[in-house]
Amino acid sequence: MTTIILKPHKEESLKRFHPWVFSGAIARVLLDASHTASAPEEGELVRVESAQGEALGVGHWQVGSIAVRILAFGVQELPADFWEQRIRAAYRVRESLGLIRTDNNTFRLIHGEGDFLPGLIVDVYADTAVVQAHSVGMHRCREVIAKTVATVVPQVQNVYYKSDDTLPFKAPVEGDKVGYLIRNTSPESEEFWSVENGLEFRIDWLRGQKTGFFVDQRENRALVERYAANKEVLNMFCYTGGFSLYALRGGAKRVDSVDVSQKAIDLVNANVAHNFPKAKNHTAVTADAFEYLAAQKNAGRTFDLIILDPPAFAKHRDAVKNALRGYQRINAKAIEMIRPGGILFTFSCSQAVDKEAFRLAVFSAAASVGRKVRILHQLHQPQDHPINIYHPEGEYLKGLVLYIE
Ligand code: SAH
Repeated sequence: MTTIILKPHKEESLKRFHPWVFSGAIARVLLDASHTASAPEEGELVRVESAQGEALGVGHWQVGSIAVRILAFGVQELPADFWEQRIRAAYRVRESLGLIRTDNNTFRLIHGEGDFLPGLIVDVYADTAVVQAHSVGMHRCREVIAKTVATVVPQVQNVYYKSDDTLPFKAPVEGDKVGYLIRNTSPESEEFWSVENGLEFRIDWLRGQKTGFFVDQRENRALVERYAANKEVLNMFCYTGGFSLYALRGGAKRVDSVDVSQKAIDLVNANVAHNFPKAKNHTAVTADAFEYLAAQKNAGRTFDLIILDPPAFAKHRDAVKNALRGYQRINAKAIEMIRPGGILFTFSCSQAVDKEAFRLAVFSAAASVGRKVRILHQLHQPQDHPINIYHPEGEYLKGLVLYIE
């Protein structure tokens, strides 16, 4: 195996279990005999040692500023049952937290660094798991990952691999980036429904966004249900309509769902019709959020409860400033349209925007429209999207629930 030797003192963050080795920390690379090129291959398993020759761990080599993502600390080889051990541990956590029930078979099984598997995401939807690799190392391991997930998780019959949008853009990748790795049933049939807290969702992992569904809003949707009774609700950026379904079950007077994607709106309509076949109080509109809010304002419409769950406005650090302006603008528009005594659920899923900055953007929005605003709840990602305490970068979803006078 290739060995990476660090510069003196650069082992300290690894000793504190932070799983990334930055390229600037590397003194030398000792390639093993199998190499003809002058550098390790992207995705190969490498050993990391301190300047004094201490074994720090084993991880996947990457091209870029993060050079190695550590899979196991303090060893020179991965144990033979590495995948089984890690995936089973992650499953046990979900099970012990009560997330796997007959009325809830939708959950995130593996959340990257949060489950000590950097670069790997696995979401489970009823009998199908969707695996997403964010590193070439994980891509190379996709077969063993799929086999282990199907062995460990009793409900899983099919494993779909979906990494066309997540693997590093220029990475040399062998094999398909999308497709079924295991398939025993017909998961794309009209009969397929994945259950979240008793609500049934059609999930389209083939054509949908990310792995097909935003599992990360489950607990926050449940909170919307608690506040929805008799309210006129606007669910902006609704995607598959998660918040809308919970609001309808919570007794909302009326729910409007808005998304720019027609495919999303088709899914919302299918999900509402399936769960609430008699509902006449739901409308889904395909529109750009900013244009929609401007048009509603011109028409003099107001709402009791608005949900704003936009896509990540900042995908990188250098986009943060513009993103904050975007959050401020959209929140100001929403706050303006909330009736006195109404509620705003507002979110940011940009990892690069921290919770202080997001709160400040929402504060500026409230101040700019001159409303009295109180924070009722501060929300975050749920327990199946855990944050490794040594890797605070894993925190990305934040939300505020505001009472608007
Ligand atoms: N709230 C959703 C997840 C939202 S993901 C849930 O609970 O599942 C963000 C959504 O915003 C995507 O569906 C995307 O199609 C939509 N979107 C992106 N840009 C938009 C825009 N300018 N106007 C309206 N919707 C937009």
